Amino acid sequence: MDGIILGIESTAHTFSFGRVSTDGDLFPSFSSLFRPAEGGIHPREAADHHSDSTTELLDRLSRSEQFSWDSIIAVAFSQGPGLGPCLRVGASVARTLSTRLSVPLLGVNHCVAHIEVGRNQTGCNDPVLLYVSGGNTQVIARADGRYRVLGETLDIGIGNMLDKFARLQGIPFPGGPEIEKLASEFSGEGDCNLDDATLPYGVHGMDMAFSGMLTSAAQKVSEGMSLGQVCWSLQEHSFASCVEVAERALAHTGKAELLLGGGVACNERLREMSRVMCEERDAQSFWPDKSYCIDNGTMIAELGRRMLECGIETEIMDSAIDPTLRTDHTAVLWD
Ligand code: AMP
Ligand code: MG
Repeated sequence: MDGIILGIESTAHTFSFGRVSTDGDLFPSFSSLFRPAEGGIHPREAADHHSDSTTELLDRLSRSEQFSWDSIIAVAFSQGPGLGPCLRVGASVARTLSTRLSVPLLGVNHCVAHIEVGRNQTGCNDPVLLYVSGGNTQVIARADGRYRVLGETLDIGIGNMLDKFARLQGIPFPGGPEIEKLASEFSGEGDCNLDDATLPYGVHGMDMAFSGMLTSAAQKVSEGMSLGQVCWSLQEHSFASCVEVAERALAHTGKAELLLGGGVACNERLREMSRVMCEERDAQSFWPDKSYCIDNGTMIAELGRRMLECGIETEIMDSAIDPTLRTDHTAVLWD
């Protein structure tokens, strides 16, 4: 049946509505980002932000070009992983819309949605995914009907690490883009030498760790090293550890495509390091538009579309959120 699948994202700081046609045409999302006045994200405050934004976002969606409620044939939502109170808001809105419109409900695995929107947008087929976001850092590849986690962070997500370092320096959330700016200004001056700015490098087999790097980077600033130099070094160390694990995943799986996803995949330096690594081993690197790297409703709609094609639907009774849902929990039945 031709129509539109609506997608709702609410795993953390972003509340977002997006859509995709049954043919796989992606439409831009309508999103609202919770920005805490100070400190990190408090799940309850983020959930309140999502509730408060619902009417405005739905209003913007319904006034957008070519939109009609009659064309919606299914409603997909992030079922997990994420912050419980935030997930609950998205799930409630999804249940309400699916019931009101009398269309199927689809509970979606957020991590898998990053892969599927990337495959749709870039045309890559069977990639290793380097998923680098606020709360998640994983290297993922498809094997035996699942997306398997080959390596991941043992402590905090790379984005949370960058945001936390930024916050310690008085830079508001999200800190990643400002760190990128300071790092590129520093490297543009040409005097880059990692020997002066070594940080603990946390690769353990296929896993990564970032908290030691964070502590040491904050220490370097307090010892008088320039913020630009420390931001640059922090990017070099943390991105190199991700790219190293991604390269090992390519080698072990024999795959020849690397796909970046998650908010940190907006970073030009990480993209460059990924491109260079892939070129050196005759592989190809891909990344979606920045609007589809960060959390967005369209990617939830896209995974919902793939599930619907395979006849998968989520009964209301089975639509409870799952804050600890794992990437490899979801059976991948589509091509
Ligand atoms: P997500 O959790 O996927 O929505 O991504 C949000 C995370 O991406 C936050 O931790 C941001 O700091 C980070 N981020 C966004 N843009 C950039 C960038 N250009 N460089 C590094 N990190 C970024
Ligand atoms: Mg994400």
